[in-house]
Amino acid sequence: MLEIITYPNPLLRQVSNKVEKFDEELHKLLDDMYEAMLSKNGVGISAIQVAKPIRALLICIPDDEGNQNKEDLLEVINPEILHKEGEISFSEGCLSVPEFYEDVKRFKKVTIRYQNRYGELQEIEAEDYLAVAFQHEIDHLNGILFVDKLPILKRKKFEKELKRKKKL
Ligand SMILES: [Zn+2]
Repeated sequence: MLEIITYPNPLLRQVSNKVEKFDEELHKLLDDMYEAMLSKNGVGISAIQVAKPIRALLICIPDDEGNQNKEDLLEVINPEILHKEGEISFSEGCLSVPEFYEDVKRFKKVTIRYQNRYGELQEIEAEDYLAVAFQHEIDHLNGILFVDKLPILKRKKFEKELKRKKKL
């Protein structure tokens, strides 16, 4: 099982590189990322979270019963945000920032162009939860964490909780 790195590991600050080869190695990584994500009940994961600095991420939004289905899995390589609009505030968490949740402001609607595992171009319009997940995961590719988006007081609360956890 791939290990998920956590804040404040400096690797999380690295800007990930474009994927050029859509080969077996990439497919294996995507499969292993999927296992790692599900094992932690995550809705999304980016390659940098398993210490691979490439522009690849997964999103699997749960259905109405709260179950994650492989049919809903999005494998997203080299994503680009083509369009963004509106505003939404959503409670976010992150596999690399365990046990911390806070509201973050994001665009409500985004259009994303990306490649699938075979390198084929795809385009998707995402709204609400899915739009938030895309923005959160794409931030990872640029070394940005959701806690960076918090207003100063909430950010302080996060740092305080982190310190308290370290003492335990
Ligand atoms: Zn995250």
